[in-house]
Amino acid sequence: MILNKQAGDFDVQAVRRDFPILGTTVGGKPLVYLDNAATSQKPRAVIERLERYYREENANIHRGVHFLSQEATTAYEQARETVARFLNARESRECIFTRGTTEAINLVASSWGGQNLQAGDEIVLTTMEHHANIVPWQLLRDQIGIELKIVPVQDSGELDVDAFKSLVGDKARLVALCHVSNALGTINPAKELIAFAHERGVPVLLDGAQAAAHLPIDVQALDCDFFTFSGHKVCGPTGIGVLYGKADILGSIPPYQGGGDMIDRVTFEKTTFRGLPERFEAGTPHISGAIGLAAALDYVTEMGHGVMQAQEQDLLAYATERLSALPGLRIYGTAPEKVSVISFIMEGIHPNDAGEILDADGVAVRTGHHCTMPLWARFGLTGSIRASFAFYNTREEVDILVAGLEKVRKLLG
Ligand code: PLP
Repeated sequence: MILNKQAGDFDVQAVRRDFPILGTTVGGKPLVYLDNAATSQKPRAVIERLERYYREENANIHRGVHFLSQEATTAYEQARETVARFLNARESRECIFTRGTTEAINLVASSWGGQNLQAGDEIVLTTMEHHANIVPWQLLRDQIGIELKIVPVQDSGELDVDAFKSLVGDKARLVALCHVSNALGTINPAKELIAFAHERGVPVLLDGAQAAAHLPIDVQALDCDFFTFSGHKVCGPTGIGVLYGKADILGSIPPYQGGGDMIDRVTFEKTTFRGLPERFEAGTPHISGAIGLAAALDYVTEMGHGVMQAQEQDLLAYATERLSALPGLRIYGTAPEKVSVISFIMEGIHPNDAGEILDADGVAVRTGHHCTMPLWARFGLTGSIRASFAFYNTREEVDILVAGLEKVRKLLG
């Protein structure tokens, strides 16, 4: 990476050379990758780290006395330290490796929810949640009879904070909300909401799947009780993610899955479990994934969130202006605080048809419900076209998107 860290001097072409896939062509056209909210692309530093792990270090961890096992164990545990620094967790044992955000939320619903909730208790969610932060709570509701209270979203895509405050009532036992909406880009005022919930003794789970890719995260400053994110959205590998939880909470709830590595002693009569973090990492974990994730977090940390945000906010402003000028195009999600995600519809045109025409020009956008069906129902829609930008995207790519949308309009009316 060749980078001048002063904002405005960001050398996006040098950064793009770090990402081999960005040189790909699709049907003879250069790839314009605008589906970053679904998954980010991977820099060479991550790809090479994964390769080096399998070439030089591969072994199972924790149980081996031999050289390679110790190498792999050290790299895996160092990855946990890197995650802890990235989140500013007090201790690395508060960071549990999971398959991703989805598994992290399911872990909390199962282990924390199973222990702490009973019929009639309320969980406060919001209309803008990803299905990953809805369905695990519904499964629990159907098992034990909890109730889900849903905070509405305003027309701008901002959370209705007054409604939030009235919904965190006497029966509320947990607030679970996204830090950043994957469909609207809205950045929720997490710190304020968490402080409000805590004043009422209600813990908060922050779904950070989108936030981790765009914002510096400080779990201590946020004071969230749980924070979840997925490696693949932060330049890391798929199949690896993190559940952060305050040590006193994680340490007091039962394991999520049983198996090797999470036990202290097993007899047929009784099994005792290890402490944090091992009690939540049953079986052989995604060792290379964790190590690759650490390489990804090092990459974005070295680049600096300020530099990334400046580039992404420039793209957001430019793309918003250009898209808004297209006739019959309407943007959903206009909160003043938002990340570089733009959802829109084109009057009279099905999002999938637009997506296919764009794809023929090498432009990758996501079309559909983006795993937020209740949110789209709130807007009277079934979905949108979503362009989501990363720091390695360019204004020229925004221009190609706009030209593609003009072609869509011409072809489909
Ligand atoms: N939460 C949000 C806000 C997301 O954007 C996503 C993925 O798009 C998820 C949860 C689920 O993440 P994963 O599929 O990596 O588990």
